[in-house]
Amino acid sequence: MKRLEFHISYKCPNNCSFCSEGDQLKKFKGTFVSKEAILKHLGRFAHHGFNHLTLTGGEPTLHPDFLEIIRFASLSGYKTYVSSNGGLFARKSFCLKALPYLDEVSFSLHGDSARLHDSLTNNPGSFLRLRKAFANIKEGKKKVFVFVNIVATLKNLPYLKNIIDFAADSVSAKQVLISAVAPEGAGKDNFLRLTIPLREMAKHLSLLVDTAYRRKMRIRFFGVPMCSLGKFFGFSNDAYWSSRTTIELWRNLGHEFLKVTKSYKPVRNRIKVRKCLRCAVRNICGGVFREYVVKFGTEEIHPF
Ligand code: SF4
Repeated sequence: MKRLEFHISYKCPNNCSFCSEGDQLKKFKGTFVSKEAILKHLGRFAHHGFNHLTLTGGEPTLHPDFLEIIRFASLSGYKTYVSSNGGLFARKSFCLKALPYLDEVSFSLHGDSARLHDSLTNNPGSFLRLRKAFANIKEGKKKVFVFVNIVATLKNLPYLKNIIDFAADSVSAKQVLISAVAPEGAGKDNFLRLTIPLREMAKHLSLLVDTAYRRKMRIRFFGVPMCSLGKFFGFSNDAYWSSRTTIELWRNLGHEFLKVTKSYKPVRNRIKVRKCLRCAVRNICGGVFREYVVKFGTEEIHPF
């Protein structure tokens, strides 16, 4: 797979306490990348062999030309993946029109109840809309591969098992990604308040892996050093991560443009500490968030 990740929308009704795109959303408030620019880039990258497209944002389904974009992507040979907070999938007519052109959808789900989920998205009603989206996806004839991304925080830690069960029951999700709070945007502002200490997270791993296995879901962990996963290190997202090219809006010296960045390793905001030098998996592991080391130190890092 040659992966392209395109940030097409800088609008989102949620205001998640850990939103790593928070700064970009503030900077380009409500902007959508023009349809013409998107189609031009998709055509050019397809010509260069790119065949997997992630549409993200903000909330990508809010882009006024979303349906035309995914149709074009699908006809251009891309496997199309969308990351969404539920967005317009909560509308049945939209969902039925979009599904034929989608292969994979990743939903952001942070609670198993409106009280919990909405308290993290800071958007009352976001859980109910997500539930409607799940029902529409489940009813749709085209079966897409559904992921859920749960950002694990001190607030939803006791409920992670229930959230996995909820994803299995309500949308038959096939994969769950448990993400640590990434120290970017709102995630950086609220890092200390929300981040689960690694040794605390370790106590929950066995239950989460067992639950996913029982529900026939793949489970992956993002942003957690492999050594903190212990015997579950094989479930680290780092081991499955593949290189990608990202296109996003950028501003420099008052000039706005689409910036193209290549990433070869999952190392964004992450570092290797001195102990990592003698670790057997140092070439696969993305390391620990720099902010985590600043706030919590390196005591919990134990090389393989
Ligand atoms: S010691 Fe360093 S390289 Fe090894 S698993 Fe831990 S964080 Fe990753």
